Amino acid sequence: AADKCFTLWIMSERTFAMIKPDGVKRGLTAEILRRIEHKGYRVVGLKLYQIPREVAENHYGEHSDKPFFGELVDFITSGPVVAIALEGENAIAGWRSMMGATNPANAAPGTIRGDFATSMGENVSHGSDSPESAERELALFFSDSELIK
Ligand code: UDP
Repeated sequence: AADKCFTLWIMSERTFAMIKPDGVKRGLTAEILRRIEHKGYRVVGLKLYQIPREVAENHYGEHSDKPFFGELVDFITSGPVVAIALEGENAIAGWRSMMGATNPANAAPGTIRGDFATSMGENVSHGSDSPESAERELALFFSDSELIK
């Protein structure tokens, strides 16, 4: 009966994910993309990208006054990254939970950092931490024409 019908609206969101240079160099790209696809997120943008220094400084702008800023920018520009635009229900928090804690020493087994990373600086992956960051970072790394509508 019509009164028994209902529509479930699933709030899909987009986030920016990245395999950092250490992850690419160590051959973890396929493993990380495998986890993303098995989880069920849609990949709506994907490229191998050598980040220009200005883009790296902009991306990590919130850390510009931290003592580790210079090293962070050096590291993230030290080789190509895999830039990924992901879409799915709760993708922003969900992808961060798949990555695990920033410090691999605290990252749970089963998470990407927990399974593969050993140092705070070289922690294999990145994920936007809020809807505002996701929008900003997606626009910084991808042009409109590089993202699937
Ligand atoms: N980072 C670092 N030393 C620190 C804190 C952070 O090298 O003491 C690096 C680390 O690679 C981290 C990135 O800076 O992933 C951004 O830090 P944030 O706190 O935003 O962590 P995330 O969002 O990546 O988990």
